[in-house]
Amino acid sequence: MPSDPHSSTRPAFDPPAALARLSSGRRSQRLVHVHEVPARPEQVAGWPDWVAPTVYSAFSSSGITALWSHQREAADRAHDGTHVVISTGTASGKSLGYLLPVLSDVVDGGSAPSGRGATALYLSPTKALAGDQLARLNALAIPGLRAATYDGDTPADERRWIRDHCQYVLTNPDLVHHSLLPGHSRWAPFLRSLQYVVIDECHVYRGIFGSHLAALLRRLRRVAAHYGAFPTFILASATVADPQTQASALVGLPVQPITVDGSPRESMTFGLWEPGLVVDGGGSGVDRPDVPHRRSAIAETADLLAALVADGVQTVAFARSRPGVEAVAASARRSLGEVGPELAGGVAAYRGGYLPEERRELERGLRSGALRGLAATNALELGIDVSGLDAVLMAGWPGTCASLWQQAGRAGRSRSPSLAVLIAGDDPLDTYLVHHPQALFNRPVEAAVLDPQNPYVLAPHLAAAAAELPLTAADAQVFGPTMVGLLDVLVARGLLRRRPGGWFWTRPERATDHVSLRGTGETVRIVERSTGRVLGTVDAAAAHSSVHTGAVYVHQGQSFVVTHYDVQDAHAVVVAGDPGWSTRARSVSAFDIMDVQRSQTWGAAELSFGSVQVRSQVTSFLRLLPGGEVLGEHPLDLPERSLHTKAVWWTMTEQMLDAAGVPEPSIPGAAHAAEHAAIAMLPLVATSDRWDIGGVSTALHPDTGRPTILVYDGHPGGAGFAERGFRAARIWLTATRDAIVACECATGCPSCVQSPRCGNGNEPLDKVGAISLLTAVLSGPAPLDDGPPTSREAIESSGNGYHHHP
Ligand SMILES: [Zn+2]
Ligand SMILES: [Zn+2]
Repeated sequence: MPSDPHSSTRPAFDPPAALARLSSGRRSQRLVHVHEVPARPEQVAGWPDWVAPTVYSAFSSSGITALWSHQREAADRAHDGTHVVISTGTASGKSLGYLLPVLSDVVDGGSAPSGRGATALYLSPTKALAGDQLARLNALAIPGLRAATYDGDTPADERRWIRDHCQYVLTNPDLVHHSLLPGHSRWAPFLRSLQYVVIDECHVYRGIFGSHLAALLRRLRRVAAHYGAFPTFILASATVADPQTQASALVGLPVQPITVDGSPRESMTFGLWEPGLVVDGGGSGVDRPDVPHRRSAIAETADLLAALVADGVQTVAFARSRPGVEAVAASARRSLGEVGPELAGGVAAYRGGYLPEERRELERGLRSGALRGLAATNALELGIDVSGLDAVLMAGWPGTCASLWQQAGRAGRSRSPSLAVLIAGDDPLDTYLVHHPQALFNRPVEAAVLDPQNPYVLAPHLAAAAAELPLTAADAQVFGPTMVGLLDVLVARGLLRRRPGGWFWTRPERATDHVSLRGTGETVRIVERSTGRVLGTVDAAAAHSSVHTGAVYVHQGQSFVVTHYDVQDAHAVVVAGDPGWSTRARSVSAFDIMDVQRSQTWGAAELSFGSVQVRSQVTSFLRLLPGGEVLGEHPLDLPERSLHTKAVWWTMTEQMLDAAGVPEPSIPGAAHAAEHAAIAMLPLVATSDRWDIGGVSTALHPDTGRPTILVYDGHPGGAGFAERGFRAARIWLTATRDAIVACECATGCPSCVQSPRCGNGNEPLDKVGAISLLTAVLSGPAPLDDGPPTSREAIESSGNGYHHHP
């Protein structure tokens, strides 16, 4: 290892002083808050006496001589057969918590006559992570341990050896779905001994992907039970609110949480930064260029990167998109070039997709100090080691608390304090977070949510389950109370047959070929006209507004123009090229309330959760110059689309709004502005993308007879986001109101109530009215607190014990 080149040449890094220099002079108003994340002392625990001696000596000779408290607690509980979820910080050694029981039992089982008294399955969301884990295991060189990765690239002869001989198999959900479960008889010896299932990075299984994984794990539990195995589940999660609920919903069994982190941490100075308002147009694509908007987080981050590098602070700047990364690096190099050419040469861009030797070259440059600044996408989270820098800049909220801490954690040499700065993007959630530091630095309110009972997801998995082993009524204990009703539908559609022995798959094709684990199916292909090549797909739900004829469609940073959109055949033909304008679809939306599952009154307001039918029709599109100026509006003739999903909505009375200072003519603008901000703020309490959620507001809804604001899951059947919004409504709507209040613009801007994908061109919007409306709603006493979600109730009602008698 090369020694740290900076340690001898300069004094220790002083983050508060560096931040003070950064925010002096013309940037003096931009630093909104400074938070000192204190150093955390470690909490050490001894080794459990049940650990196999060979496992103990492998770890101790690799330098691990003591455990942190959370590792010990997780290991003990899992060893006792309790399902656990370990939810602690980045780099807190979660893997040791599951490796101790898994490896000990696997090694101890080696003395069984079969050589495999115990086996374990490890699931990771990416192949790369499984590969890293295997490399770690191999480095431990535990005698008698046979571990291997098993994925789409594993050759056939190797696959067979792994199935027949390995005790620890590292794979991914897709392989379990397409290969292991459909071919379970080939895995019979492995499954018979299955003692543990490890689910790493489980916070990524949320929304529709989470619902798929929940169904998949129920299928796995059922097939394992067929072979007499009832494995213990061990889940590892980033720090989120209520990991227990998510883990229990995923597995379908009660899971114990372990959340007290015993690992040490160096101190960190965390700055929250807000770029100033500008009125020069500036390419944000807003509908009203005369209205001020914020300087972009990209431009601001480039300035800060240049200033830190010039100050001698080695820094990595994260941006969310590849073009953003290029822009940060290019702009920082330009400003540094004015100071000195040698400084400009010390800044590089890293966008992922690099060859291994290019990545190693960057790592060498950072370690030697030749590279002083790096702009990167979070592709960097996998694949390149940049630990040990002084400072981290983040251009815009990275989407989740987990990503924020993962990126911030890139700063900090050993035993040296570090600096992290979050630069707010032009978005209500960013505005809120930089003005409400407690939402970032106290216990997270953001939860990873999913709906295990989404019928659009569960039904095709039931078909797959029937193909694996015929289903019987008793399987409702695993799949939940809606199983039998869904099976009737599958029979009526000719996918399953009902016989005295249960429900059977009798079709010639593979049942699993009908299911993709990433969505609910329907997509529209993007076809390049000159080559006929399929560039990618878009979700059918978003297609009318994003790939209609005439749309400018940006795919992986490159612009295309749609020359023809075929609704029937679900494809759009595109030609490459940037016409110099962007397009924005305009649409009309309405909704019908199908079923109210829950509701609660808040004074004169009423909050509800249930099933809705959202009807929307794209009616025209606008062509917009980069500054937001409208070149023209063009009508479109597209059919209405209807989405059956879950939603949270609240109604108000005209009297309460009038008393709050929102007279009848102001209601449409106030409700519309509140709806936009509420959509943007839902990710605060549910780890969704803003794009997974939609909304509709109306001054008079025919079903409720009142002014109504609706926020819905953008996926058929729902994804759990709206339900979480209902459960955490007070936190969510208070934050929505506070985000609008925190923005210093006069009449509304993209940082508070404007939405970049509004179907109405951001008209009408009443910022002040939205604040009054939300304040009036929140002033009503709420009889219910944030209670347990229905997914947990579904688990409890389905019982804990599962007994399958084939
Ligand atoms: Zn604003
Ligand atoms: Zn709108």
